[in-house]
Amino acid sequence: MCKLAGMDGKQELKWLAWELTSQCNMACVHCRSSSEFTSPIGAFNIAAAEKLLNDIAAIASPVIVLSGGEPLLRDDLFQIAKMGTNRGFRMAMATNGLLVDDEVCRKIKESGINIVSMSLDGHTSKIHDNFRGQSGAFDAVMRAAQIFRKHGIKFIVNSSFTKRNQEYIKDTYELAKKIGAAAWYMFLIVPTGRGEEIMNELVSKEDYEEILEWHYRMERREGEILVRPTCAPQYYRIWNAKSREEGLDSKRRSLSFSTGGGKGCIAGQSILFINSEGDVYPCSYFPISAGNVFKQSIGEIWKNSGLFEDLRDFKKYGGKCGRCKYLGVCGGCRARSYAVEGDYFAEEPFCSYIPKAVQQII
Ligand code: SF4
Ligand code: SF4
Repeated sequence: MCKLAGMDGKQELKWLAWELTSQCNMACVHCRSSSEFTSPIGAFNIAAAEKLLNDIAAIASPVIVLSGGEPLLRDDLFQIAKMGTNRGFRMAMATNGLLVDDEVCRKIKESGINIVSMSLDGHTSKIHDNFRGQSGAFDAVMRAAQIFRKHGIKFIVNSSFTKRNQEYIKDTYELAKKIGAAAWYMFLIVPTGRGEEIMNELVSKEDYEEILEWHYRMERREGEILVRPTCAPQYYRIWNAKSREEGLDSKRRSLSFSTGGGKGCIAGQSILFINSEGDVYPCSYFPISAGNVFKQSIGEIWKNSGLFEDLRDFKKYGGKCGRCKYLGVCGGCRARSYAVEGDYFAEEPFCSYIPKAVQQII
């Protein structure tokens, strides 16, 4: 049976991000869904949300991250969170922090949301606000962190980087620690949504490798908070190779709210994303839909989608990824392959590694 298999022998759904609304009170340059304030609130009313939660419960018990847009713009956010908690899901929420106050924290706790995540893309207001396209965004995150700490609510800091802010990676990590984050997730953006416009702002392949090597050294020293490069599947290659070189244990700490990976890219393998119209995707950055929950159950989509079957079949992976000994632990970012090559089976365009099997050919 496959390592990721659930009770029925099929792949187990472990983590699900659900965009409750595409409406947002910010307009970030790299936004996956190109959200803004005038975006629609979304297709899920309470009855539809309840049906989806029941359908999910019929196949799995994943972590569910309520996201957006900005989920706090929905009046029924906490009602939906509570329904998830009552069905035994570990509930989480992603917010930009602008609307966080004491009352919101009280509702977060009451609804059973166990952890929240916020974005912080620089260590100063100038850098973060420029990246988020909104002045005051940095101050909102700082204030929200303080309020979360006061209420004992754990939070994760997600930081996105492009050429524009890559020189501040270390400073941003240090600030995330200082403001009391339980975890810091570094993310080098995948071009999709509004991000397509900044394709030429992507961190170069060479810098990418160097940044991941820095992350390896930092993670080895870091004992206080959990750190993870997000959607940098080749980090698993670096982690395994360097640990072996240095004679160190390759086991890593993890958070009960992490994507349950143990592997680089897990899009459509143990995670999925549902947008505010009910379209289901392998992950938040992968623009091909596997189906829609208003037309089929989530169980049918998860088990039978041809796209998900493709992503789970490593034999179909091409280029150097298909010949790489790290394919099973890394897999390359399928969304980046699709964005750059127009083929999700193509090799990961931001990996510098040349597998032995490929070296022998050149
Ligand atoms: S395809 Fe995989 S690595 Fe890429 S963004 Fe999606 S989950 Fe992350
Ligand atoms: S070649 Fe592909 S599978 Fe191998 S480490 Fe690079 S991205 Fe991962």
